[in-house]
Amino acid sequence: MKADFRSDTVTRPTAAMLDYMMKAPVGDDVFSEDPSINHLERLSADIFGYEAGIFCPSGTMTNQIAIKCHTSPGDEVICEKNSHIYVYEGGGIAFNSGASVRLIDGDRGRVSSEQITMNINPDDVHRPVSRMVGLENTCNRGGGSCYDLKQIEKIREVCDRHQLILHLDGARLFNALVARNEDPKDYGRLFDSISICLSKSLGAPVGSVLLGNSTMIKKARRIRKVFGGGMRQAGYLAAAGIYALDNNVERLSQDHLHARMIEEALREKSFVDTILPVETNIIIASFYQPYTPQHFIQAMEKEDILLFAISPTQIRMVLHLDITPAMVEKTINVIKNL
Ligand SMILES: *Cc1c(COP(=O)(O)O)cnc(C)c1O
Repeated sequence: MKADFRSDTVTRPTAAMLDYMMKAPVGDDVFSEDPSINHLERLSADIFGYEAGIFCPSGTMTNQIAIKCHTSPGDEVICEKNSHIYVYEGGGIAFNSGASVRLIDGDRGRVSSEQITMNINPDDVHRPVSRMVGLENTCNRGGGSCYDLKQIEKIREVCDRHQLILHLDGARLFNALVARNEDPKDYGRLFDSISICLSKSLGAPVGSVLLGNSTMIKKARRIRKVFGGGMRQAGYLAAAGIYALDNNVERLSQDHLHARMIEEALREKSFVDTILPVETNIIIASFYQPYTPQHFIQAMEKEDILLFAISPTQIRMVLHLDITPAMVEKTINVIKNL
């Protein structure tokens, strides 16, 4: 078995998860008649204290539906310059919502309330209407960095003062919750909507859930249909999500421990320049010239260890459910012998 550190999306369902999926009761979800999807939506909403949730095929769709719910064409979305909603969703903010984007240069993906305040437009006919703020937690391009809850509370205050909607791209929110031992209800209290992914390190094959109040989620159902995301007997997929939430959250701390162990091995190497502080399951490192990401990737690939470069100077390794302790041990030994 290759040790695949390219992404936490590469996990395959376990036998126990598949078994649970096979037994799922299903119905037509466009008629809201799929018991497994209804269960998953209720379960996820309850974890965060929201009124409702909606199951979607991807995290891109849940984010894009949220932005479409919250904005009108010509409005402006404020987010960090490396955020997934801006960098990795194919220009969806413009394509789907006709909204403009205001980018903030954050600290490893995180923005401050002061930075947001400075980027809110005045009430002036020349300017786009600042409508919503999109945060990410953990921050993918920030090396899995986590927000401090106090920082989010300050951002919420700025949003309240300026009537801005606050959305969270929580693709890896469970990693942050576990790493910082936080209460999901605090997030439900602070954000107007949250998108969570079940197909990252939680190990489900497909699926994300968008959470919010019932009025918003009702609107989201209409938008999901327009986007072509209305699925029928998708309860088999939702069951994987239920299984993931019930069984695969606590174990994330093991991924975080493994990431720190690999980080330590990398720190010993003379060719390693910087490693972003490892807070969760992502390691981002850069190298001194003439050593390049390609040297590292090729040396690892020879040992059946897979990873990516995420820029000409940076490599990324992501821990997840399918990376075993034995694979971590082997990876550390391979790094030691480089
Ligand atoms: C993976 C990811 C998403 C959603 O991606 P999909 O592949 O569309 O499910 C959203 N935000 C972040 C930060 C991600 O890492």
